[in-house]
Amino acid sequence: MSPDPAYIRQNVLLSEYTTLGVGGPARFFAECSDENELTDLIRFGQANSLEVFILGGGSNLLVSDAGFDGLVVKLGIRGIEMCSTNGDKCRITASAGENWDEFVEFAVARGLAGIECLSGIPGLVGGTPIQNVGAYGEEVSDVVVSVRCFDRKTGRIALLSNVECGFAYRKSIFNVSERDRYVVISVTYDLTIDGSPKIVYKDLSEHFGDRRPSVAEVREAVLSIRRKKSMVIDPADPNSRSAGSFFKNPVVSSFEYERIKMKEGRDIPTFPVGPDLVKIPAAWLIENAGFIKGFRLGNAAISENHSLALVNRGGATAKEIIDLMNLIKHGVFERYSVELVPEPVFLGF
Ligand SMILES: Cc1cc2nc3c(=O)[nH]c(=O)nc-3n(C[C@H](O)[C@H](O)[C@H](O)COP(=O)(O)OP(=O)(O)OC[C@H]3O[C@@H](n4cnc5c(N)ncnc54)[C@H](O)[C@@H]3O)c2cc1C
Repeated sequence: MSPDPAYIRQNVLLSEYTTLGVGGPARFFAECSDENELTDLIRFGQANSLEVFILGGGSNLLVSDAGFDGLVVKLGIRGIEMCSTNGDKCRITASAGENWDEFVEFAVARGLAGIECLSGIPGLVGGTPIQNVGAYGEEVSDVVVSVRCFDRKTGRIALLSNVECGFAYRKSIFNVSERDRYVVISVTYDLTIDGSPKIVYKDLSEHFGDRRPSVAEVREAVLSIRRKKSMVIDPADPNSRSAGSFFKNPVVSSFEYERIKMKEGRDIPTFPVGPDLVKIPAAWLIENAGFIKGFRLGNAAISENHSLALVNRGGATAKEIIDLMNLIKHGVFERYSVELVPEPVFLGF
């Protein structure tokens, strides 16, 4: 098949487009820089009965060794627009193809609060509402006003409000009920002018003590803490060749928590998430099930700096990552009867 539009490439190795550096080829691959190209590409997929996968920065993705027998569209729509101010709120729209951390830097440089704790998260703006990215006590859903999308079901543009996005912990309609329906084109945020940064996490409160830092200082502190855990992409740091946290923190009932605590015979760290529900750090479960940092299975390993990140130590296959994932899941389940759920998206399995 000779693709039309002509800029569609064939057999493009996806490992080069993911932060894990793992995965086989996409049968068809194209980068799009505006909405017209996006609709042309989606039309090409439909006309040829191809599955169309939207790729951002590839930082939450595990691609199979066999690759993907469809069309991968890498979103490259750029632009940031300061829309309006209302009282202490500044409304900004960022296009899906903007680099997320550069957008955070842009906001912080203007003294705008609301996303400073999300500094250093890799990927693009369009990827952030998908799993409602969060870190150090902030979630992107706290500041999202609306998400402008291309609706693949109707072929039209849709503007979804924050509520319509159905945000929850690492969830939204984009990765649960309406998975693969919407392509995010841009996201609009309300950030706070001269706002106070959010300091709720122990790592950050310990860093600043009693001092009230600026948003810029919080950004620097977050980046520095994340670097120590290899949670900032750095080509010189082999422990950052990951997809970030490989497992979600399990949310269990208080009853379940008491059962685990009793079995363990000691307190277990938790974060409250709602009436009768607690979140247990997956990293704690992994470590206490006997998997130490740096644990290696072939070319796949647990990061030496963060128990939740699985890393490619060089030349790892997707199968090696999956084998390691299964070993950890099995070990945690054997010991705690808690099912770990992977966080990244799996493509081509
Ligand atoms: C070192 C490291 C640290 C990380 N730290 C964190 C963290 O602290 N908190 C956190 O929440 N996450 C973290 N992550 C995970 C990841 O960075 C985020 O989930 C990020 O938002 C993914 O964006 P992306 O552009 O890379 O998406 P991709 O990995 O390219 O895609 C992920 C999913 O989103 C979909 N998608 C992407 N863009 C669009 C779009 N425009 N429209 C529709 N669907 C789209 C894809 O189809 C896919 O299903 C980390 C990852 C790494 C590697």
